[in-house]
Amino acid sequence: MSRKPIIAGNWKMNLLQSEAKSVFEGVKNFVKDYTAVELPTIVIAPVFTSISAVQSVECTCGCGGKKIAIAGQNCHWESSGAFTGEISVEMLKDAGCDYVIIGHSERRQYFSETDEMINKKAKAILRGGLIPIVCCGETLEQREAGVTDSWIAGQIKNALDGISSEDIAKSVIAYEPIWAIGTGKTCDADEANRVIAMIRNVVKEIAGNEAGDAIRILYGGSVKPSTIEEQMSKSDIDGALIGGASLKAESLNEIIEKTMKLSLVH
Ligand code: PEP
Repeated sequence: MSRKPIIAGNWKMNLLQSEAKSVFEGVKNFVKDYTAVELPTIVIAPVFTSISAVQSVECTCGCGGKKIAIAGQNCHWESSGAFTGEISVEMLKDAGCDYVIIGHSERRQYFSETDEMINKKAKAILRGGLIPIVCCGETLEQREAGVTDSWIAGQIKNALDGISSEDIAKSVIAYEPIWAIGTGKTCDADEANRVIAMIRNVVKEIAGNEAGDAIRILYGGSVKPSTIEEQMSKSDIDGALIGGASLKAESLNEIIEKTMKLSLVH
């Protein structure tokens, strides 16, 4: 059993097409010197309007553009219809995405996404042959009230409800304490590892040991080049979901390089 690390950049509502292309180009130029086996799984989630722009960045190493996977930042669970402003899994797949981020705290907070909606999205993503990156995390108030573990266990159980063990095994979870997102405050690496190990146990409870051992669980929340080595050295942290530090090729490349140097397969 082995879990290949994932370094995923969430560009949120940032970067115009030309800017997105330029950051993507910077990452592509860096990864061209490595094989896909050496590299972590690299995923970038641009805004929808930049998905085709980043895919037009030419690959110079002959990998066929497979070293960087693209993710949607959200999706709807229906495949088409009268849902103004939404995008379906089929559309993301058609645009070249392999992953979809769902349940990000910003979507839960500003767009009232519920666990039930996230569960429907996860099922639609897996049905469509893509991989969900399911985000979970507690507020500072919840942490201070001592309910972090029960809150997150609930989010995970709800998000994965009714999904087969096989599909759960190939999914990705991102533990993102809300108080650490975009704040510059990183969760202590041992504590992040403890929560992630707890999430893995919840997955084992609902989907069995094999799925729990296989699922990749990332940490997210102010990850930077200076924090990644400690985070990646922990037993249960399989990678990072990165906002701010993924907007510049230099910092994202440094994170990828440090992850690679540790050559960590958990
Ligand atoms: C995120 O958007 O998922 C995130 C973790 O952002 P940041 O790295 O900027 O905290």
